[in-house]
Amino acid sequence: MNAVARRILIVDDNQELAENLAELLEDEGHTTTTADSGERAIDISGGLDFDLLLSDVRMPGINGVELVIRLRVYRPRLCCLLMSAYSSEELRREAKSAGVAAILDKPLDLDELLCRVTCC
Ligand SMILES: [Mg+2]
Repeated sequence: MNAVARRILIVDDNQELAENLAELLEDEGHTTTTADSGERAIDISGGLDFDLLLSDVRMPGINGVELVIRLRVYRPRLCCLLMSAYSSEELRREAKSAGVAAILDKPLDLDELLCRVTCC
């Protein structure tokens, strides 16, 4: 068992990517749940035991930053990691003020992802 096993909610409108990430993280000993939208993530979050959010930024509907803001109302200590292919200075500022621990650039560096997940 992984000493720093996380319960991770993975959110990406690219469902295949979300499932691939879930498989990778499960192989490392983490527990995962996937959602294909911010709305879906909010719907299931109330009944879900998780301590880390890993979310895409650009999604139809609620985007990753908004999702962080909404989830942290009820879970102020939730560790949040965002993934984006288009991170700008503005996005980094918004994410920081929303309490995001890090924005990971897409395509993802998997070693960095695993490191961020365990030290989040
Ligand atoms: Mg997307």
